Amino acid sequence: MTAHARYPLLFSPLDLGFTKLKNRTLMGSMHTGLEEAEHGYERMAAFFSERARAGVGMIITGGIPPNEEASGHETKLSTPAEAEKHRIVTDAVHAADPDVKICMQILHTGPLARTPLCVAPSPVRSRIGAYTPRELDEAGIEKQIADFANCAQLAQSAGYDGVEIIGSAGYLISTFLVEKTNLRTDRWGGPFENRMRFPVEVIKRVRAAVGPNFIIVFRIAAMDMLQGGMSWEEIVTLARAVVAAGVNIVSTHFTWHEAFVPTIATMVPRAAFTQVTGRLRKELTVPVITSNRINMPDVAEAVLARGDADIVSMARPMLADAELVKKAFEGREDEINTCIACNQACLDHTFTGQRVSCLVNPRACNETELNYPATNRPKRIAVVGAGPAGLAYATTAAERGHKVTLFEAGPDIGGQFNLARRIPGKEEFNETLRYFRRMIAVRGVELKLNTRVDADALKAQGFDEVIVATGIEPRRPQIEGVDHPKAIGYIDAILGRKPIGKRVAVMGAGGIGFDVAELIAHAGASASLDIDTFAREWGIDFKNHPRGGVTGVTPQVEKADREIFLMQRKSEALGRNLGRTTGWTHRLSLQRRGVHFVSGVEYLKIDDRGLHTRVNGEPKLFEVDTVIVCAGQNSLRELYDKLQDTGVNATLVGGAFEASELDAKRAIDQACRLAAVV
Ligand code: FAD
Ligand code: NAP
Ligand code: SF4
Repeated sequence: MTAHARYPLLFSPLDLGFTKLKNRTLMGSMHTGLEEAEHGYERMAAFFSERARAGVGMIITGGIPPNEEASGHETKLSTPAEAEKHRIVTDAVHAADPDVKICMQILHTGPLARTPLCVAPSPVRSRIGAYTPRELDEAGIEKQIADFANCAQLAQSAGYDGVEIIGSAGYLISTFLVEKTNLRTDRWGGPFENRMRFPVEVIKRVRAAVGPNFIIVFRIAAMDMLQGGMSWEEIVTLARAVVAAGVNIVSTHFTWHEAFVPTIATMVPRAAFTQVTGRLRKELTVPVITSNRINMPDVAEAVLARGDADIVSMARPMLADAELVKKAFEGREDEINTCIACNQACLDHTFTGQRVSCLVNPRACNETELNYPATNRPKRIAVVGAGPAGLAYATTAAERGHKVTLFEAGPDIGGQFNLARRIPGKEEFNETLRYFRRMIAVRGVELKLNTRVDADALKAQGFDEVIVATGIEPRRPQIEGVDHPKAIGYIDAILGRKPIGKRVAVMGAGGIGFDVAELIAHAGASASLDIDTFAREWGIDFKNHPRGGVTGVTPQVEKADREIFLMQRKSEALGRNLGRTTGWTHRLSLQRRGVHFVSGVEYLKIDDRGLHTRVNGEPKLFEVDTVIVCAGQNSLRELYDKLQDTGVNATLVGGAFEASELDAKRAIDQACRLAAVV
């Protein structure tokens, strides 16, 4: 069996008539921030061509605005001079593999544009918009349509194989389609045939501008997750109309950015939404693309086998591993660095104006500056601690040809990821551990488990470099009664090493406090592993597809039989520092499970009666059975200090280097950057 015989559908070509896709894998559009950066086009070229070399069938770029009012970024494509810069990207991709197609996404963000010039069918400000948009008049609408057509033509002149026009997510086109954002009474508003006039006209004009032999993808909101959003009949009508107007491929998208349903976070089950694409596919004569939480080739193959789609989009998974397609083709899927859908280095960066990268792969979008070349001076390196920092360092240094020994005190690799993976909704963290386990074998790292090394042993072995990645120890706040049997640490709580009562105070509401509350508030199946449970918990009705796909009734969650108080000393709202794009899902999930959020807490003492506090100055006793301490961490530097005393030069990395605000993104990034230059 040739390797790719495991994925016969994924690796079958797709004939579009005038052109052919080499396989059914698509790197979906992601705004990386390279679009705006100085020298961004060279970086974008390196980023995309690396994925092209690995055999992806088609790439869709991050969104490029067709005019000034479309985004608020300086980057746009409306002049031939601007088109010229894109040549750097298209030439690089086609040089990497002439059979790989690259399409440019035309993104008109409409009312979400970060500019006071922003426009929309009606002056309706989005919940997440920065400005109230200016209502377009007839001439304004004509200008926007002409700008789409001009942009598409310029993309064609720049060497792209096609364009994707985004008609979803709360951006301009979608705001014409939905009644709550289109209040017009002229021929662009009112009945659906009027509301869909704008996208249909855009497609007609784009097709007229680019001729027949150019791919046009239309991205449709197949479930917008808005109450009063699009009905199924409207979605089918629109899809058929844009196909009649000249679209070659329909790409399905789920949700508007302002909706309250998670669609790509790690708590979303894999391939949860492809069934919707499958239903739409039956209504159309052109190929359809599906997406969302498809992060491994077997998931993609199963989607195709179910008949849910013709092409599978994997966007973030190709940030996480540039060689995902190649590894699948060669039957090396256990070497894939899997996207864990954390959003921490990708979407959270996009929404905070930082350049995108990836938590598990800091090279993503840094291909021109972070490389791991083979060393010509192999060293003997000891890495102490097999948490994310130690694992990233050890496997990267070994990839470069160094001889690495990795010491881990515990019985397995993973460090705190071994705790994270036990939290409902974080099961994907297992994939990162599988990846590192495999890389240890492939790259020949010598792994010594159950080995707590000391400074003398390291000195005696005469390593050229010693990397201390010993991580952290949980902070034990100096509160009276902190040693009372009611008070337990988060490690014991997560590992189930100590009993947890019916009434629980979680002391500390950082990422770990939230995760612990999620763990102990849960009952039944983890929603991230079961699509029906997930749908019930978030009010999605896949079967009947009411308007927007959402039921509008209060979502049903299965709660543990416990009363939980999640607390912090700060007086601000809880969870402010959680991920920009996922924090709200954690807050909502806990609130729906009845967890009480308490801020402004001063901890006084723990005794047989419970946790004595002052809340906003008022004395309050929480009569709890258990207090789980999640009060942050301190660096574990004992070994490092002893190495210094014995005269061994050592380098700190990860939590051992700095515990404050440490997360795996920083730990892995720091480790990879150090290993790149050792
Ligand atoms: P650690 O993971 O602490 O690893 C240190 C390792 O060193 C351990 O395996 C330890 O046994 C070993 N060690 C210590 N001393 C010795 C010695 N002398 N000899 C040999 N071995 C030794 N981060 C995120 O970015 N996103 C998340 O969603 C997220 N969720 C989390 C959820 C939970 C429940 C927890 C607990 C943490 C979470 N984190 C998350 C934080 C993340 O796991 C840490 O930032 C990361 O693990 C730090 O990596 P590290 O390698 O520096 O340290
Ligand atoms: P953290 O985010 O720093 O939170 C620590 C919590 O403890 C805060 O609520 C803090 O709030 C409280 N605290 C601090 N000192 C205290 C003291 N002396 N006494 C009582 N309370 C105290 O740390 P963490 O929750 O331990 O998480 C560690 C790291 O893992 C974080 O940096 C986080 O990024 C990462 N992580 C991320 C995720 C994720 O989903 N992205 C999930 C888990 C962990 P007050 O000071 O207001 O009380
Ligand atoms: Fe996936 Fe997280 Fe990397 Fe984004 S940062 S690509 S979500 S693993």
